[in-house]
Parts: sequence; C-alpha cells; structure tokens
Amino acid sequence: MHKHPLIAELITIAGQAHVLTHDDPATDLSAWENDWRKRHQGRALAVVRPASTAQVAAVVKACAAHHTSVVAQGGNTGLVVGSVPDNTGQQVVLSLTRMNRVRFTDPANLTMTVEAGCILQSLQEHAARHGLLLPLSLAAEGSCTIGGNLATNAGGTQVLRYGNTRDLCLGLEVVTAQGEVWDGLTGLRKDNTGYDLRHLFIGSEGTLGVITAATLKLAPQPAATLTALAAVPDMASAVQLLQLAQTQLASTLTGFEVMGRFALSLVHRHYAHLHLPDLWATTPWCVLLEISDAESESHARTMLETALGNALEAGLITDAVVADSLAQAAALWHIRESIPLAQAQEGLNVKHDISLPVSAIPAFVQETDALLADHYPGIRLVNFGHLGDGNLHYNVQAPADADAAAFLRDAEHAVNTLVFDNVQRFGGSISAEHGVGSLKAATLPRYKSAVALDLMARIKHALDPAHTLNPGRMLVRR
Ligand code: FAD
Ligand code: ZN
Repeated sequence: MHKHPLIAELITIAGQAHVLTHDDPATDLSAWENDWRKRHQGRALAVVRPASTAQVAAVVKACAAHHTSVVAQGGNTGLVVGSVPDNTGQQVVLSLTRMNRVRFTDPANLTMTVEAGCILQSLQEHAARHGLLLPLSLAAEGSCTIGGNLATNAGGTQVLRYGNTRDLCLGLEVVTAQGEVWDGLTGLRKDNTGYDLRHLFIGSEGTLGVITAATLKLAPQPAATLTALAAVPDMASAVQLLQLAQTQLASTLTGFEVMGRFALSLVHRHYAHLHLPDLWATTPWCVLLEISDAESESHARTMLETALGNALEAGLITDAVVADSLAQAAALWHIRESIPLAQAQEGLNVKHDISLPVSAIPAFVQETDALLADHYPGIRLVNFGHLGDGNLHYNVQAPADADAAAFLRDAEHAVNTLVFDNVQRFGGSISAEHGVGSLKAATLPRYKSAVALDLMARIKHALDPAHTLNPGRMLVRR
C-alpha cells in the first residue's frame, strides 16, 4: 500500500506503470511539470495517465474525494501556464495522451469521433487517408492534442475559412468535476434541444470538465492548394491586400499571415537552413497567402497570379513569389511556423496574443510600436500573426544587449499594461487564441466587464463548486 491513500487509489485505477510520483528519485516528471515556454516549474503530487474514459472518471472522483485538484494535460504546448501543476506538490496532473484512438470515422457525414489525447497531426493524417481534411493547423500540431485544442479553442492558420476549433466540433464526451461522464458525442449539425453544453467546455481550459473525446467536422480535400509570399510596404497595405484577396479570391482564400522583418530575421538567424526567399530582407512586412481550390491547380494559379498582379498594380505589394511545388509551399509555411521557435531560441520574451478589428490594426501597430520604443529604447518587436483573423502575435523581445530575464522581471508587467490598454482602446481582446491560464488570470479583470466575470464565476461554481479542476486558472479564485 502506498503511503498516500490517494496515490494507492490512482494506482488501482490506472495501474502502477501509469502513476508517476517523486517517491522514486529516479523518476523525472519535468516534462509534465514545466511549461513549454519555460515560464513555470511546477511540482506534482502525481502524474496519472489513464487509458479510458471510465479511468478518467474514476481518477477525478478519487481526487475530488481527497480534496485534491486535477490539472488536465494534453501535449503540454499551451502558452499561458494552464496545463502544469502549481509548485505546492499537491496537484495531480491528469495526462490524456494514452487516450489516442480514433473511435469512428463517418465519411458520408464528414465527421470523425476521436479521443482527447490524439495528436493533432495524426488526426490530420487520418482524415487525409479518407480523402478528407481536418482544417485545423498550428505550429504545435506535431505534439499538441485535440483535447488541448478544444480546451483552449485553438485557432491556427485556417480560421479565416474554417473557423476556430469550436467551429469544428459537433459533439463532446466530458468527465465532470464530480467524476460523472457526459456523453454528448453526436455528429449532428442541427440540435436545438436546450443549452449547447459543448460550447461551455470548449475554451474552458480544463476548468469545467475533462474532455475525453470529440466528434469533429471534416471538409472535402481541395483539388489544389497554392501558397505565395508577398512583400508589403506597410501594415495599411497588408490590410488592403486582405480586402483585395477576400474580394477576388473569395472563399478560396484559406490563409493570410503577416510577418514582420524582425520576426523573419530571427528565423534567418536561428534556422539558416530554411532559406528565406530574398524578398524578406528588403521589406518591412511579408504576407503569406494560401488558396484552396476545388477545381484544379491551373485554375488556382491563374486566380492567385491575377490577384497578385492587381495588388502589384495598386501598389499594395512590391514583390511576390508563388510556390511552384508543394515542397516549396511547405517550405514557406515552415518559415512562418518557425517564428515562435526562433523567438524561443533568441531568449525569454513577452508574448501578446491579441485580436483587433482588422481595420484598426495599422493604427494600433503604429501607435503601440512608437510608445514601446519611447519607453524602452532598443526593445525589439516580433510581430507576426493571423492577419486574416485580426490576430497578431505582438511579442516583445528584450533589447539585444539586455539580460532578458532581468528585463522581464522589471518590465513585463508594465509592457503588458501598455500593450493591453492600447488593445482595449482599439476595441480588441487581450487573448485571441492562447487563452488565459494562470499567466493572465490576474490581468483579465482589468479588461473584462465585471458582469462577464461574475457570470463566468457563477458557471464555475455551478459545475465545479469544490474547485477540483484547474483551480485559479482563467478565473482568480474568490
Ligand atoms: P496543453 O498545453 O496540455 O493544455 C492546454 C490547456 O488545456 C490547459 O489549461 C489544460 O489544462 C487544458 N487541457 C488539455 N487537455 C485537456 C482535456 N482533454 N480536457 C480538458 N482540459 C484540457 N494556439 C493557437 O490557438 N493557435 C496557434 O497558432 C498556436 N500555435 C502554437 C505554436 C507553438 C509552437 C506552440 C508551442 C503553441 C501554439 N499554440 C497555438 C498554443 C495552443 O494552445 C496549443 O498548442 C494547443 O492548443 C494546446 O494543446 P495541448 O494538447 O498541448 O494542451
Ligand atoms: Zn497563432
């Protein structure tokens, strides 16, 4: 019998091999205890890795009975310190990664039902084997899980056309804070029989229930996808280019990403083998466009080249390259996706994952850049993001000659306040896709109405009155 009665129970539920603790000094739990950005080092009472929904339910029930809180974890790629335990050594990490089966694929209904621990990329590949598309794509797709994507309502690079993860989910299976199972797995596109509970759990960051499975919406594979990189003279032109693309390319437009020159220079420095096309170095901004065409490659090429020609004539772009193979397109996307990694290589940084009305972005960027440069001489702005969704990753890197850790310690809070106050002034949100977690829980009340926060707290209280699930994440505990 284990000396801690809860751990003995967890071992009975999930098996000795799947309950990891610090009792054995040789066991390294850091992969589950530390967050992706190295912002937090937690300490878990135990990491438990159940293999079925029934086991997840039993784990939550046992933890609740022992007044022990549970932190759900998927791929641990979250960026707001939500998926790791605090440092009390009292929280149980519930890892979903062993729940990685595709339960059912229904090509005629364009759906698949999958377990929460499935890696996103493996699900994209599964859909492709059925000739279908799971239109959710983000740089962490090789290690994030669909449960984590749902829990954070992840965005990514195809939101413009297909929506956020929320829009791709028709049904859910959830273990409640009391350890009950809600089977809401359905492939229905229409169902108005009461509150739509799935939307309560999607984006709830593990604070209301543990997602164990989901029914996802698929799309037909396009006949051709084409990618281009365009040099843009300023942000106002990038926004006008988006309007032009939305008009002339209509629903074929599936990606519209913006990348600032400093962001690209970090990729150039840390991933030199990626060979950036020459145009990046001579323009302040690049835009990566993708179209997906149901007809053919040549149809897509004509459309894209015509639109880019019109943009060139209108002075919205100064240069462009259209990928002439799938490999070249993948290489362009790889550059975009390497920005967060290159930024991590460059050192600790302050991330702002913000959204604004697209129309407000040029003025927001101009004014906020100027304010930051004024307050923090030498500060480096890593600005990139999903411009098509009005979502910028407006990140701040310490001056090149500064000690990044010291800069963050002294300036992070003030930098956040400066940026977020401006976001609010321009009608935006302080978290477009990464969520709140514990990193922004204390910041949220400054920017969210008291009524909204009160409704959120009442929902939390109704579903998890004992604060068993992810306490202190998203909402400061009251
Ligand atoms: P985790 O990090 O393990 O968990 C995230 C949160 O969800 C935590 O609060 C956790 O408690 C909760 N959770 C996890 N699984 C469950 C579950 N089964 N039930 C209930 N709660 C659960 N995000 C975007 O939206 N768009 C991007 O473009 C994007 N790009 C990224 C690029 C990189 C390089 C990285 C590292 C991250 C990026 N992210 C992006 C962050 C994004 O939130 C995660 O990558 C992903 O959605 C989280 O999945 P995960 O399985 O790693 O979840
Ligand atoms: Zn993003």
